[in-house]
Amino acid sequence: MLKGKTALVTGSTSGIGLGIAKALAAQGANVVLNGFGDHEGPQREVEQAGAAHGIATAYHGADMSKPVEIEAMMAFAAEKFGRVDILVNNAGIQHVARVEDFPVEKWDAIMAINLSSAFHATRLAIPAMREANWGRIINVASIHGLVASVEKSAYVAAKHGVIGLTKVTALENATTGVTCNAICPGWVLTPLVQKQIDARALEGNISVEEAQKNLLREKEPSLQFTTPEELGALAVFFCSPAGNNVRGVAWNMDGGWTAQ
Ligand code: NAD
Repeated sequence: MLKGKTALVTGSTSGIGLGIAKALAAQGANVVLNGFGDHEGPQREVEQAGAAHGIATAYHGADMSKPVEIEAMMAFAAEKFGRVDILVNNAGIQHVARVEDFPVEKWDAIMAINLSSAFHATRLAIPAMREANWGRIINVASIHGLVASVEKSAYVAAKHGVIGLTKVTALENATTGVTCNAICPGWVLTPLVQKQIDARALEGNISVEEAQKNLLREKEPSLQFTTPEELGALAVFFCSPAGNNVRGVAWNMDGGWTAQ
């Protein structure tokens, strides 16, 4: 379905970004990966996922907190593959502390990586998408773009901002073939969440398994994690012809978190 298209997925060396990159590759899209840590393993996984379609991949290590590096990454992708047809703004970090204790530099970093990076990549991707009259911008927000939890002021503020950005981008391009939508996962068992589970286990002097169960029990009626594969399938839907007129939505995959 996506043969000949190019997807750029930020933060795709791990977790949800990697899951989405693999799902898009499996539909035939070429993929530009981004993110920290080992990238060769994830790049191989994406190539394998798209092997039947003979897709190509590339990697750019832009630090998404730095606008000049985002500009370099977008230029790299355009040079390599002609243009970016599908932009997935996924890179993100978390820090947990009460507002009055929140380290200022962590606030700034979360704003830069979780919110401003999506603005920069989006503004740079739109012109070529509009010229082609086809484009998909998918922002990985969070259920924390819709509701709050204690000790996550920066994250919740950034993710609410991402949903606002999603709606404006969708409206500004509403008469074109460029759509913009947000995905709002509940808990997904990735390194970002594992850190929070480990901290809870330590604090409560309980096992990691118990801390994991408590985490789900608190928020997620299904008592199940959403998986990167499920989120990848939702991204594929946004890219499908059935997604042509889906514009500016914030789609939950949250096990009932916000239905309560
Ligand atoms: P993860 O830690 O597994 O992956 C994060 C990715 O972002 C990694 O590839 C990392 O290298 C990259 N990254 C971090 N800082 C970066 C920077 N400055 N520049 C470039 N890349 C950077 O986390 P995840 O859970 O897969 O999170 C992905 C996205 O999903 C985030 O935006 C997160 O807020 C969101 N999300 C996660 C959950 C969850 O439960 N895990 C729930 C809702 C939303």
